[in-house]
Amino acid sequence: MRNNKLLRAIYTLAVYLWAAPISLLGLALGILSLPGGCKLSVNEGVLECAGGRILSGLLSALGRNMQIQAITLGHVVLARNHETMHALRFHERIHVKQYERWGLLFLPLYFGSSMLALMVGKDPYFDNHFEKAAFEGAAKHADSQINS
Ligand SMILES: [Zn+2]
Repeated sequence: MRNNKLLRAIYTLAVYLWAAPISLLGLALGILSLPGGCKLSVNEGVLECAGGRILSGLLSALGRNMQIQAITLGHVVLARNHETMHALRFHERIHVKQYERWGLLFLPLYFGSSMLALMVGKDPYFDNHFEKAAFEGAAKHADSQINS
């Protein structure tokens, strides 16, 4: 029993460290957004940054051709507002798990998946492997909430 707790703690530390380079980028963007009214909170081990005009501007600048409502960077989720954070929380949690699995490799794999989708005439966002997994996982989660 005690070994299980220790192993769990080591695993948790390892996945936070593995995703840390990207989480630090998310943290920096969250801190930069504070003067614009962004609110920070920790929810289930994930730093959530929501709201404010600076964060909204950052998400618009990142999106260019698409309206990014929220983005996950390691263990940090940035969202335009609190309603969006609430609505997309489970989808973004799946991206957190993806960062825990792939660490720094996640970003090139994510963009590679978008490029592959584009090359075969598909949508770089909705046909991205990681987005499809997040949408499917969030839909299953929503179904389980309705059926419980
Ligand atoms: Zn997503």
